[in-house]
Amino acid sequence: MSDRVTHLIHHPYQPPAGFEAPQPGVFKASTVIFANVAAMRARDWKHKHGYTYGLHGTPTTFQLEERIATLEGGGQCLLVPSGLAALAHVNLSLLASGDEVLVPDNAYGPLKALAQAELARWGITHQKYDPMDPQDLAARLGPRTRLVWLEAPGSVTMEFPPLARLAAACRERGITTALDNTWGAGLAFNGFEGGGADIVVQALTKYPSGGGDVLMGSVVTRDEALHLRLRETHMHMGWGVGANDAEAVLRSLPTLELRYRAQDASARELARWFSARGEAAQVLHPALEGSPGHEHWRELCGPQGLAAGLFSVLFRPDLEPRRVDAFCDALRLFRLGYSWGGPVSLAVPYELSSMRSADLGTGRWRGVLVRFSVGLESRADLQDDLAQALRALA
Ligand SMILES: *Cc1c(COP(=O)(O)O)cnc(C)c1O
Repeated sequence: MSDRVTHLIHHPYQPPAGFEAPQPGVFKASTVIFANVAAMRARDWKHKHGYTYGLHGTPTTFQLEERIATLEGGGQCLLVPSGLAALAHVNLSLLASGDEVLVPDNAYGPLKALAQAELARWGITHQKYDPMDPQDLAARLGPRTRLVWLEAPGSVTMEFPPLARLAAACRERGITTALDNTWGAGLAFNGFEGGGADIVVQALTKYPSGGGDVLMGSVVTRDEALHLRLRETHMHMGWGVGANDAEAVLRSLPTLELRYRAQDASARELARWFSARGEAAQVLHPALEGSPGHEHWRELCGPQGLAAGLFSVLFRPDLEPRRVDAFCDALRLFRLGYSWGGPVSLAVPYELSSMRSADLGTGRWRGVLVRFSVGLESRADLQDDLAQALRALA
């Protein structure tokens, strides 16, 4: 091996064993090298006994999978390129033509869009159910129901459902449940024990990443057979995540709880402050008394329990949408943008009537709502920002 160019590729140097540092290494690979043909033939991608190909995992992604499984209180984890991909993945893995899936009416919007478009096109029907009413869910479960989605609290309107009762109604009939646990982040409650779900999904994009700079999703299970079902489709679909992105999440995990608690404390204080203002018809935050499903949040998360740093303000009906838009435009520290869990506070206005089914209990939602995601800025500065922007409403 005398040619220096070949040497750049086939260098004999081996790093000494025994290097240890707090942060795991970043292992990037499509190709994984086998010692011989027998090793190549023997290696099985289904289990973590060894490495076969970058798409099936590297030390970096295996490490993140193990930590997210532990965070959620589960046994196995799959990583996918976004939170939405995690929702899609569970549907694709478990549903076939002729099956039906049930989705809460206040679910993360793109999950409903997936059901309405692709799932319908593939002959999979869906129904929406009222997440606050276990009887409504139970009445909709039928012989074709294969999967029921759960989410706590609901996206945007933040109603906290009686999660364990919804899951129990499904378990009684042997129907698999999947919980979108992005809000709880594995911290506010245990999705398996408290929530009663079979599959717990999270958008790692939010709190686990914490930087507003990574897109990733996780699918966690406790049942090995269910995991292998999901893993097989994962393999067939070619889902994979980049090692640098996995490392970015691994780097943020040690501060997850600190950030979650800090953002929770700020959000609650700002939500209470907003409740005392005249502009709000209602402030929606599950830890605030009077917010829909507050008692369910208390039951599941505990009276001193945690909550994500999110709240929504439903503005008085006489405050026209264009004035609420002007309020949003006047915000300076709160930036206009989607997602949450990062250091920067964000606001998004929503017109509610288009987001709910008229024939369900949730159809009563009307008006303009602004969803706030509280970042890590000084709480006093954020409150001053809201106060100055509210003058644009006047
Ligand atoms: C953001 C979010 C998702 C999707 O995550 P992405 O990584 O943005 O695709 C799914 N569910 C909930 C509840 C979310 O907030």
